[in-house]
Amino acid sequence: MSTDPYSMAQDPYSVSPHGEGPYRTSPYGEPVPAGTTSALRIVWIYPDLLSTYGDRGNMLILGRRAQQRGMPVELIEVRSDQPLPTTADIYLLGGGEDGPQALAAQRLIADGGLHRAVAQGSVVFAVCAGYQLLGSSFVAKGTTCAGLQLLDLHSDRGPSRAVGELAGEIDPRLGLPPLTGFENHGGRTHLGPDAAPLARVTTGIGNDGATEGAWRGKLLGTYSHGPALARNPALADLLLRWATGTSALPPLDDTWSDRLRAERLAATRAA
Ligand code: GLN
Repeated sequence: MSTDPYSMAQDPYSVSPHGEGPYRTSPYGEPVPAGTTSALRIVWIYPDLLSTYGDRGNMLILGRRAQQRGMPVELIEVRSDQPLPTTADIYLLGGGEDGPQALAAQRLIADGGLHRAVAQGSVVFAVCAGYQLLGSSFVAKGTTCAGLQLLDLHSDRGPSRAVGELAGEIDPRLGLPPLTGFENHGGRTHLGPDAAPLARVTTGIGNDGATEGAWRGKLLGTYSHGPALARNPALADLLLRWATGTSALPPLDDTWSDRLRAERLAATRAA
């Protein structure tokens, strides 16, 4: 019998996210045997609090792109009343409204699992509210809330809500094509010296109208919904390369995402 407290499901679709305990699925291949260590483990943090604008799609894209390269994958969804596993490869945070965002930050600080995972070298990809709460503080419903202090940044409120298409030229050190996404946030984010901007904004607001997102080591945050990794498959592959320690992955047929990207980037240029 497995001693892994997170092992629940052998049938990938048999366990409801409303069941007891974090649950795991292997939706693209054979069910991953409990206790196995060879699968790429991807954790979706707090789907009950942080999951606006299709951000759950980021988990599906990562799982799919890993599986297409022959990697077994475990997708683990952890609700806000459950402990985070600390040894997964990739952790995903999505967007959220102010109330759920503040609650998520409190619970993640109390849990401590994400800090332990980062200390062990796990990859974190965070969107919007999830991105803001990786910093030292953010503002929710007029109150300044403590963040996780995993990235050197803090967020306050802007003069207006940033809503619409978001595009930018990504930090050349990451070697990625332009970022495309959709943003909807009231916060503005200010980076300290230990965080690098993910991109220079060409359309939209992002952090502050000039830069968008941030990264350090294997932590990366963005305001881009859409979901971000469906619109930016090269970014998904960067996260997979970080998680697996490989410098290159076999190419995939990205015809459809290339078309989506071309259409969205042309639309932002036309606007
Ligand atoms: N509540 C945050 C803000 O408005 C984040 C919003 C979001 O995640 N879309 O700035």
